[in-house]
Amino acid sequence: MDPWGQIARSSREDIRALQNKKLARFIKTYVYPFSPRYRRTFDENGIKPGSIRTVEDLQAIPFTSKLDLIATDGRTEKFKEYILQPDKETIRKFWPATRLIRLALSSALRGQEYVEDQMAREFRPAFMTFTTGTTNLPTAFLYSNHDVDNLHIYGARMLKLFDIAGSDRIVNMFPYAPHLAFWQVVFGGLASSVLIMSTGGGKVMGTDGNISALMKMKPAVLLGVPSYVYHVLRTARDQGRDLSFLKKIVLGAARLGEGFKEKITELLMQMGSGDVSVFGTYGFTEARCAWAECPTSISVSSGYHLYPDKEIFEVIDPKTGVVRGEGEDGELVYTALDARGSVVLRYRTGDFVRGGITYAPCPHCRRTVPRVSSDITRLSDVKDMRLSKIKGALVDLNNFSSVLSDIKMIDEWQIELRKHNNDPFDVDEVVVYVSPKSGCDRARLEEEVKKKILLSTEVTPNRVDFLELPELVRRLELETASKEKRIIDNRPKG
Ligand SMILES: [Zn+2]
Repeated sequence: MDPWGQIARSSREDIRALQNKKLARFIKTYVYPFSPRYRRTFDENGIKPGSIRTVEDLQAIPFTSKLDLIATDGRTEKFKEYILQPDKETIRKFWPATRLIRLALSSALRGQEYVEDQMAREFRPAFMTFTTGTTNLPTAFLYSNHDVDNLHIYGARMLKLFDIAGSDRIVNMFPYAPHLAFWQVVFGGLASSVLIMSTGGGKVMGTDGNISALMKMKPAVLLGVPSYVYHVLRTARDQGRDLSFLKKIVLGAARLGEGFKEKITELLMQMGSGDVSVFGTYGFTEARCAWAECPTSISVSSGYHLYPDKEIFEVIDPKTGVVRGEGEDGELVYTALDARGSVVLRYRTGDFVRGGITYAPCPHCRRTVPRVSSDITRLSDVKDMRLSKIKGALVDLNNFSSVLSDIKMIDEWQIELRKHNNDPFDVDEVVVYVSPKSGCDRARLEEEVKKKILLSTEVTPNRVDFLELPELVRRLELETASKEKRIIDNRPKG
């Protein structure tokens, strides 16, 4: 039985005490004994596993970064060192006597095979998902059955946070792939005994297939990637469909602008659905977990409700690494508390959160778990390394996305980076392709696009080109690729 109901009503002090207890036990009986990587880290830095007793003690442990995980020494891939690897010797050496006696008793009463099965269920990797970096090689994160059980728990907690009833039906449009989002939804539905149809997204069933799935299932809840969900809803609207059954849209994106949420609700209103909630979610492969907002009005975000019995989040100054206080901006750092398989401690997510973490009870659902502000942007140089030199200025390409998706008169957009005259020695150019909504004042929109991009990236686009929607959808490969081509870099490499 998942103790979520009780944890979500516990006091701040009780939650912290639980975290301290779980952290000390996790480090002493799982991480130090069985993680080749962290045992070395502890030994090299003179950290005694027994000295990590509280959340504050974590600060003695060095950070783990994305680069640590993708590194190789030519022969071994580093991510393997993060997988817990127990054997008879380390178990005997590190586990407390009471636990060893329990093991011996189980073996005597139910046989050696039973004990081996139990150990395999807890530790042996049986499932995996990959990171989806655009420039990095994908890194595998492994799950034992213990972690898959947790993935069920996280999914069920999310459905509770969204206030989804057992009688509601769900359509899952996340792309079918070894990625966290798709499986988080599948397992969440199974754990909550809610009927889900997973279409696999546009690449698997096509947009017409996805719309047919909606018409057949008449779900109250639709989940997916923001751009694809938007595309499906717009296409359904153009076909004159009645989607009045849809009440909740859950999107796999940490940061949803108010403008984008409004665009989604406007489309749904045109198809007969009033009073719709749009939720953002936050998750990443390294945590093998996702977190959710609770229901609010469209202009407000509750923030992401954390699972304090399963992880610890810190917010740090990305430059100095110093831990920040409650509600302060900084980079999110993740530590697992109940993981097997691939385990990371003090993992730098590369995600920058404005408003940090709050420990006050949620004003919307009254749950007392800590919440991360949903104003999350990627520190691109750390995470996706899409920091790109355009016109001699260092530009965070992710900023284009938040700006353009939020402009209400824009239906779809794409950015092309290229060289003037296609000459590799000439200056860089930024071209914005826009498909506007009907009846829009193009000159005014062009003005707005240029102004907003300049404000957030310090680069003025050279041109804003208007394209017909079908042409732009084709260019974006919205219906054919598992990830849309939002920003294309056509500058010669090198
Ligand atoms: Zn809440």
